[in-house]
This record gives sequence, C-alpha cells and structure tokens, in this order.
Amino acid sequence: MGSDGELIESFEECRVCTNGLIQFWTRSDTGRVFFACEECLMGYWEPPSRGAPTFLFTNEVTWPCRPATRDEVAEAGWSDLVWRRTGTGLVAAPKKEQ
Ligand SMILES: [Zn+2]
Repeated sequence: MGSDGELIESFEECRVCTNGLIQFWTRSDTGRVFFACEECLMGYWEPPSRGAPTFLFTNEVTWPCRPATRDEVAEAGWSDLVWRRTGTGLVAAPKKEQ
C-alpha cells in the first residue's frame, strides 16, 4: 500500500492473528473504507468484532488504496471504533467508557 498519510487506528481486534493493529484504509477508486490488520495484512469490509468475514490480504489487492481520513471513517459510521492516530504524539486514548 505504502503512503505517508496519517493512519487512523481502531481498537478492533484482528480475528486472524488476534494481536495486530487494525487500521482504517480507503479504496481510492470507490471511496469505500475498510479495516486492515497491520500485523497479518488481513482486510475486512466491516468491523471484525461484528462478525465480518475476512476478504483479502491487503498486500494482494488489485485496486488502489490509501489511509482513510477522519471524515471518511465518520461517514462510514465507525467513529466510535477509532482508537487513536499515529504520528501525532498523542498518547493512546482509553477505550470509550460507557
Ligand atoms: Zn491480523
């Protein structure tokens, strides 16, 4: 994938490797946001915690993608799944307390 754009991370847990960092990515040609595991490169079209099936290895996709923006994540309705951003110097925010 490769981009120096800001990556937005989720506290979703990868169901394949269970310890990978899940990040939000956008399919550039369609604008669709998806979840990608940094560790095992597995991708999900829906939040893994909601039972989404894996759909690909993100290093094998044939379409262009880039890090999702805050707006795109919000539009997808997944703002509540954002954990923190990388590269901002922010300390990891705690999970939402309800
Ligand atoms: Zn994984």
